[in-house]
Amino acid sequence: MVFGSGSFAVVSTLYSHPLAVGPAIMESIDTQALNILNEYPLLVPYSNFKKWEGFVQVKDMDVQIEITTPLYPSLKDVSIKCSPDVYPLLISLKNQAEDSSLLNLLRSISHALKSKSLLAMESLELDKQKLQTFIIVLKELEASNVVNLNHDAMTVTLRYEDSSGEFHELTVQFDDDYPKTTVVIKKIDLPTETAAALEGSTATIKQLYESFKDSVEDLIPLWETAKELEKECWVIDPEVPQRKDTYRRIFLTTDLSVSISFNSLRMNEMPEIKFFGCVSVVEQKSSEFMSRLDSIGWNMELSVVSNLKMLLAINEFPRKCLNSTQDPLECIICASSGVEDGTPAQKWCNNDKCPSVYHRSCLYRWFDSLQGAKQYWDYICGPCPYCKVKIWCPVKEDVSAKR
Ligand SMILES: [Zn+2]
Ligand SMILES: [Zn+2]
Repeated sequence: MVFGSGSFAVVSTLYSHPLAVGPAIMESIDTQALNILNEYPLLVPYSNFKKWEGFVQVKDMDVQIEITTPLYPSLKDVSIKCSPDVYPLLISLKNQAEDSSLLNLLRSISHALKSKSLLAMESLELDKQKLQTFIIVLKELEASNVVNLNHDAMTVTLRYEDSSGEFHELTVQFDDDYPKTTVVIKKIDLPTETAAALEGSTATIKQLYESFKDSVEDLIPLWETAKELEKECWVIDPEVPQRKDTYRRIFLTTDLSVSISFNSLRMNEMPEIKFFGCVSVVEQKSSEFMSRLDSIGWNMELSVVSNLKMLLAINEFPRKCLNSTQDPLECIICASSGVEDGTPAQKWCNNDKCPSVYHRSCLYRWFDSLQGAKQYWDYICGPCPYCKVKIWCPVKEDVSAKR
């Protein structure tokens, strides 16, 4: 046992023969002292009960203690020496005990030590069970794939390097009874359908990890294509693309964007192409696109970017939206740069990458004609005609924009 101070050594040499002073003590012993000696036989009084030295027994452990009571039987100026691991516990009791008796103080000390040892045993028990489960999990997996094991949350994060050299992570949660119980996927960055299929398969962590690896390999063509689009085009949506995103919306002009949606597991099929923006421009561009598609078709031998360039009749994709700050901007809906309700077309969409500007009245009429748009009090809410991000548009001209 390690002690906080060296005073015990000094004490034991000073009182190396406690029984020699015993008889003197016994002459003036009081009832409390008798009770203490009964309940705490390993605690020996010295110096006319002004010092108590020995052990307090708790369950199967003995806690060494030295109590000084200079004004015994009063607890005034009582001091306690003990090992550092129980010191904080006993000091807090000492502070509460000033106007109690030494016997009561000793009883609270025993009580506190008892609950402390119980607590320590319980947490040890819990850790043992968790540890056993962890060992089962680790045995199942190769340690090199495990990037994180969280003892509190009972989660394990596994990493996989795919054949293109990209890293992927899967976080799985399990409980104490694993492998009797099924695991839950806590974090995964794969397209929704793939993630749902993995989640639905009741499996061990190892089986789940194997399916995860297969799914990742199957999805490489999607991510390569998305990467190429991001390199060649100004992607306005998703703002921060993730591996789960199966579409990219691309800037063409300030009044026209195009969205390309993939079937993540059928990358050898033509993606779904949709134009967004100014109605007249959308109509014109889609019909041009469709007629070119009819004549030249979608060439599976070529990349998505190359196919798009041919079908859109462009050599390069515009790199970035460069909004002219001098010219009044054109409303994407009415294609006019003029003034409506006394104001020119302005930015309503919260997507920073979206270049769209609208007249309030044009936007309101647009939403009003949509089936999905909803009106709440003085606002109507619907998708941005250019990038599909939700926009709140005031119903009346005098209501300020809610952003
Ligand atoms: Zn307009
Ligand atoms: Zn927008």
